[in-house]
Amino acid sequence: ASDTLENFRPHSPTADDLAELAAGRRANASFVILARNSDLSGTVRSIREIEDRFNRRYNYPYVLLNEVPFTEDFMSRISVLTSAKVEFGLIPKEHWYQPDSIDEDKARAGREKMEHDNIIYGGSVSYRNMCRFNSGFFFRHPLMEKYRWYWRIEPDVHFHCDIQYDPFVYMEDHNKVYSFTITMYEYEATIPTLWGHVMDFARQHPEFIAKDNSLNFMSPDGGNKYNLCHFWSNFEIADMEFWRGPAYTAFFNYLDEQGGFYYERWGDAPVHSIAAALFASKDQIHFFDDIGYEHNPYTHCPKGKGLWAKGKCTCDPLKSFDYDGYSCMSKWDRFVETGAGQH
Ligand code: GDP
Ligand code: MN
Repeated sequence: ASDTLENFRPHSPTADDLAELAAGRRANASFVILARNSDLSGTVRSIREIEDRFNRRYNYPYVLLNEVPFTEDFMSRISVLTSAKVEFGLIPKEHWYQPDSIDEDKARAGREKMEHDNIIYGGSVSYRNMCRFNSGFFFRHPLMEKYRWYWRIEPDVHFHCDIQYDPFVYMEDHNKVYSFTITMYEYEATIPTLWGHVMDFARQHPEFIAKDNSLNFMSPDGGNKYNLCHFWSNFEIADMEFWRGPAYTAFFNYLDEQGGFYYERWGDAPVHSIAAALFASKDQIHFFDDIGYEHNPYTHCPKGKGLWAKGKCTCDPLKSFDYDGYSCMSKWDRFVETGAGQH
């Protein structure tokens, strides 16, 4: 293996890297990247960064998914970036396209209204397919079924700090199911009826609601009102057993039947976040403060001088999104500290 790895200069592992690679325990985990063929250059950059900052020392495999076949050019440009296993998968049609149960006239009217109101991606069908796929299907893809843990990566994101331990193993050892680096408000116009459906589901299925849940992070009044806070799902390290389990399966199917992925524009971020808040206990949700992460236009940069210097971070700690007015981080902090409902 070291022969192959040595071909990857100037990024080839040091003797320390190789020792760690040989010694460490591994989780049953993979990166997952949903991408279009046109996302090639951004995908290359994202993989290059996560390799440099983390994976050259850990060698976790990658799964790349697309609803159309990846081109030969795409696959060869990606495969040279890592010595880890890389698999390219085609998404089954029934996991991607708008189902026949959706009333297309009603869906079109919803898109036209949102486009007219200048809601981002408001007129896009493919964006809705993507959000529904990420909500309910990526963890059921045949290439993903063999893994328990995943780390979601998108084209053109940045990892700003060295990650000097294994976040998957951390999640496993600390009984976590879901993690985030950035939390913010959702656009209300994309989810006008989502919260009402969530509460209907919760009333029908009290058995799924975790005892020490995070409802109060998202609601000031025990669930009547949604404050629109959610975790930004373009970064996720999480446990697919949670998505595959009875609570989330019933929840996703219930939401899918309401049609809001197409009649409105429900994002996978609020859907995942609300599920994690209700069906996991609050200490099963982890904030990865030490992972410096950027997805345009926001960056989470570790603030504490210790973390920032230790990670050799390239981000500006003064420009971290955490305490921006549009961030929900201070609500998360207050919720974790006091348990109180958040406006
Ligand atoms: P945003 O982060 O909400 O602005 O949305 P993005 O455009 O970044 O899309 C989210 C993820 O889905 C990225 O990994 C994209 O590469 C991927 N994606 C979005 N639309 C499509 C699509 O139509 N087909 C495929 N295969 N991937 C898509
Ligand atoms: Mn994105």
